[in-house]
Amino acid sequence: MRISHEEQRVEIVEVVDDIICNRCGESCRHPSLSCNAYGLVEAEVSGGFGARLGDMVRYTFSICERCLEQLFDGFKHPPEITANAGWGEPTWADMKQHITRGEKAGRG
Ligand SMILES: [Zn+2]
Repeated sequence: MRISHEEQRVEIVEVVDDIICNRCGESCRHPSLSCNAYGLVEAEVSGGFGARLGDMVRYTFSICERCLEQLFDGFKHPPEITANAGWGEPTWADMKQHITRGEKAGRG
């Protein structure tokens, strides 16, 4: 049997104000769409036995979309891309053209 009573408490919670890109230091939020963060947000990487980055060592970081774009540009093999209906099966080159057109139109 539990004996209890009601009690009023003040709770302190963490409120995320921004997600900062670990690479460039800029915000991962879209400049005009303030509600979401884009890119790799609080991604985690950990190594197993013999890992170059350390056995059982976990890294947590965020990378903004612009830095991801630069990272993808440096890939020897471009990332696989899965897109919603209407995009077909785009390649990284297709997406780069889309990004470039958006920047020229002032959307980036
Ligand atoms: Zn960045």
